[in-house]
Amino acid sequence: MRVYNFSAGPSMLPLEVLEKASNEMTEYGTSGQSVMEMSHRSKEYGAIIESAESLLRKVLSIPENYKVLFLQGGASSQFAMIPLNLMNKSGKADYVITGQWAKKAYKEGARYGKARAVASSEDKTFSYIPTLNSADFDPEADYFHICYNNTIYGTKFYELPETGNVPLVADMSSSILSEEIDVSKFGMIYAGAQKNMGPAGLTVVIIREDLIGNAQEITPTMFNYQTHADNDSMFNTPPTYAIYVLKLVLEWIENMGGIKVLEEKNKKKAALLYDFLDQSSMFKPTVEGASRSLMNVPFITGDEELDKKFIAECTKAGFVNIKGHRSVGGMRASIYNAMPYEGVEALVNFMKKFEEENK
Ligand SMILES: *Cc1c(COP(=O)(O)O)cnc(C)c1O
Repeated sequence: MRVYNFSAGPSMLPLEVLEKASNEMTEYGTSGQSVMEMSHRSKEYGAIIESAESLLRKVLSIPENYKVLFLQGGASSQFAMIPLNLMNKSGKADYVITGQWAKKAYKEGARYGKARAVASSEDKTFSYIPTLNSADFDPEADYFHICYNNTIYGTKFYELPETGNVPLVADMSSSILSEEIDVSKFGMIYAGAQKNMGPAGLTVVIIREDLIGNAQEITPTMFNYQTHADNDSMFNTPPTYAIYVLKLVLEWIENMGGIKVLEEKNKKKAALLYDFLDQSSMFKPTVEGASRSLMNVPFITGDEELDKKFIAECTKAGFVNIKGHRSVGGMRASIYNAMPYEGVEALVNFMKKFEEENK
């Protein structure tokens, strides 16, 4: 029996996608082979990667002057690739510290240039998005980095910083494809695939063309965006199977009516859970209303023993991976695109019952 998996990543994939992949596992179309066995330079595979890119462009309305790159190394490799490729004029960059991922990006940035923390919410365990004032931004910065959705702490940017001519770079690992975004507001967007796009092993970069081609001299060939842009992500073997599953996920999104439909579903799911948390006398959300993520919902009871009991009973009942990140404690329900409304509804009903039984 399949469980409701609230993992922060790798996380649930739509059952339809898994079934389609399963049906095509040993033979893709009439190719006589699995996608896993195909040459990445074959005609069959060429059609798959092209279709993945064109679907992504369509679903996110990516403008013509942006490249889509299919890379490896996770979002974590981007923490280095970004400064190596973009810190090339003033050698300075601004970062907003809204969680552990943002901090890691900032620390890595500081290894290659002058990274500056513009604002931080660490004073309150990253439970909010700090107010940003563009007067504090460095107009000479080569880029301005944010982590758009903070997976561990459950916060998200509802308003983008006004960075003027400074390109805005966003880590969207845990929110990409969950809501409509205006790509033209960003210089670059990147995401590890394993939360909302597909299996681990694929990293997607969407980057404005004029930002490519000026990497620092020390940049390894494989870390240079130009290498991958010039070769349509085929400089070396791309993560072929993960790209294929991304294609299936994008078809699933298209078939339901696109990102707008998905966004409405995600808002309904999140509202159901937050509304319950806001009125519960046992479970409390850890994030302020104005910064709440639609994807990752941390909450606590305030009693560690009770948290433990709840997590154990959840697991038994088929609600798995609901334990919070060790830096926050308590619980975290990650409700990505593939989590159905029924899954959140079942969890809320289970929480109501638990609260009743443990008064
Ligand atoms: C998961 C995550 C990462 C790390 O991704 P890897 O692909 O494991 O390197 C970075 N940033 C955010 C926002 C994440 O959610």
